[in-house]
Amino acid sequence: MANVFLKRLKAILMAGIDILIPPACLVCHTRLGAAQKSLCPQCESQISFVKENFCYKCGSELTEGYCETCHQTEFKFELSRSSMHYQTPLTELMHLLKYSGYRSPAAFMAEKMAESLKEYPEFEDYPYITAVPLHRVRRRERGYNQSELIAKKLAKLCGKTYIRPVLRSRYTLSQTTLHRTERLSNLAGAFRVRRGNQVQGKKLILVDDVFTTGSTLNEISGELYKAGAVSVAGFTATRA
Ligand SMILES: [Zn+2]
Ligand SMILES: [Zn+2]
Repeated sequence: MANVFLKRLKAILMAGIDILIPPACLVCHTRLGAAQKSLCPQCESQISFVKENFCYKCGSELTEGYCETCHQTEFKFELSRSSMHYQTPLTELMHLLKYSGYRSPAAFMAEKMAESLKEYPEFEDYPYITAVPLHRVRRRERGYNQSELIAKKLAKLCGKTYIRPVLRSRYTLSQTTLHRTERLSNLAGAFRVRRGNQVQGKKLILVDDVFTTGSTLNEISGELYKAGAVSVAGFTATRA
């Protein structure tokens, strides 16, 4: 309990520091100009956007016109896209956001995603945005759900409605150390749609921070369809 309290306190303090300290690049610590946010121009120029040669269904990079990811998993979501490649400086930003209590990278990533969204007409008729939920214990430790911060900001930037229909009902192991098949069984039954159905007849964009195997997006998409969603499309800030 004390441990949870200390983590929560740290998250609150870090959120304060995030606002008060004169702006510096979060990755190389160079001072930032008034118009710059989170990253200096040098670090920002290293960002690589996912632009071409990807699978229409899952958004994975194609090798010789064939999608290895779709071959391994039959995805339930309509389609999935990612904004940027999970490489430096995004790996550093993501670490700050998830493990060091810095919230500002969420807004930074949402802005990049809003730019990418303009290039994906597939998303035009999806009026709702939701996020991959965190279990309440982990959310309390971290002080926030990083995917929710990204999704809310993205909804605001692109004029869509943010809704929160999904709960993480089971505390799962971190997916990062698991293989693809282990990831799937780790997630089985981990999510459920809240009572008082908010998704019946709706088309939703499901937002997460990183697309690795797609198993999280897939599991939640299945639950949303069971609850009556018409279409679910994944959209992640980065792709591993
Ligand atoms: Zn920098
Ligand atoms: Zn694919």
